[in-house]
Amino acid sequence: MRLGIISALQEEQQGLVEAMQGPAKLIHGMREYTRGRIGAVEAVCVLSRIGKVAAATTASMLIERFGVTHVLFTGVAGAGHAGVRVGDIVVADSLLQYDMDASPLFPRFEVPLTGLAHFQTDLYLTNRLADSAERFLAHDFEATIDAAERGQFALGQPRVHRGLIASGDQFISSAQRINALGEALPGMLAVEMEGAAVAQVCFEMGVPFAVMRTISDNANEAAATDFMRFVSAVASRYAFQIVTRFCRELET
Ligand code: SAH
Repeated sequence: MRLGIISALQEEQQGLVEAMQGPAKLIHGMREYTRGRIGAVEAVCVLSRIGKVAAATTASMLIERFGVTHVLFTGVAGAGHAGVRVGDIVVADSLLQYDMDASPLFPRFEVPLTGLAHFQTDLYLTNRLADSAERFLAHDFEATIDAAERGQFALGQPRVHRGLIASGDQFISSAQRINALGEALPGMLAVEMEGAAVAQVCFEMGVPFAVMRTISDNANEAAATDFMRFVSAVASRYAFQIVTRFCRELET
């Protein structure tokens, strides 16, 4: 196995490259790829930057140029469902591009000529990832995020959810917009800007993949303020803990 690990923003992968054993860097197409080991797992870490094109290109490069056999995306997202709160973790069972609409030629959301709107994640990787996230919350959450920070972000007892993540080239910061999207996509748990693009590439290349998102905001008018503070204070540490745990436990 060679695992490609993608995030959009630096904070979403904070500390991971530094924690790699035997790191080797290569710059290609304006991205920095670092090869090395996390535990016994051979990995390649990279920041895709923001948006579907950026994420799709990066996933393609990881597969074609760096020979990864599996892909993991770790990042943050806006809540897309009333039961999903800031500080919760969403592990994707499937992903969809909510801004794809070639109707009436194809049904809304369907990626033309694939016959698909929903792209399923790999069950094994997804189970392991959800398990790592659950165990992080159960055993390490309180030691990782101190009481003051938990108070500041009103983090009670964060939960892990599994289900649909929707991606599009828009930072959603409107209650009206997120509610409309939720009505069009019942079961949608979170919105972000990269996951479904990575999902399409991995599907087409036959590469198993999984996506994990920490909820940074409620995709409403307050999203921009919540987002900035939360990503640097909390989400970066969630990602580090869960991804290193995931890699440790993959080898066993
Ligand atoms: N202001 C930030 C921009 C971040 S864009 C900056 O200057 O760096 C938001 C990133 O987090 C994207 O990578 C996206 O995947 C995710 N995200 C978090 N909340 C989101 C929301 N409400 N809508 C869309 N994407 C969101």
